Amino acid sequence: MKSYREEIWFNCKKRIDFICITEQVGEILKKSEIKEGLCLVNSMHISSSVFINDNESGLHKDFEKWLEKLAPYEPISQYRHNDTGEDNADSHLKRTIMGREVVVAITKGELDFGLWEEIFYGEFDGLRKKRVLVKIIGE
Ligand code: ZN
Repeated sequence: MKSYREEIWFNCKKRIDFICITEQVGEILKKSEIKEGLCLVNSMHISSSVFINDNESGLHKDFEKWLEKLAPYEPISQYRHNDTGEDNADSHLKRTIMGREVVVAITKGELDFGLWEEIFYGEFDGLRKKRVLVKIIGE
């Protein structure tokens, strides 16, 4: 069995952002030369997510609004985590809802997606450098 590892780095200009990374993951898969196997993509941070959904801007606004209702950023004092001096309790909660990782099947050297599926990096505490791990195993 072969394995291949690479990281994708981000520095989001906004606190909350959704970035489509399907193309980058596809390029990493080509470099790996693996034709049949599994591709894991996970956030290396506890305040950002990797998830699969539609690449449609209205839906991304809906995600943002929905997450802000579930875990509003302010007032910062509503969260015990922020008693530590941090202000990102909401980011940890948003990340938990949107998930840590995705696994995509690899078939004939391609990411084997369902209709309209795209991979996204979800940032919930941006304005600094962060990374995603891509780990591919197979033949
Ligand atoms: Zn924190």
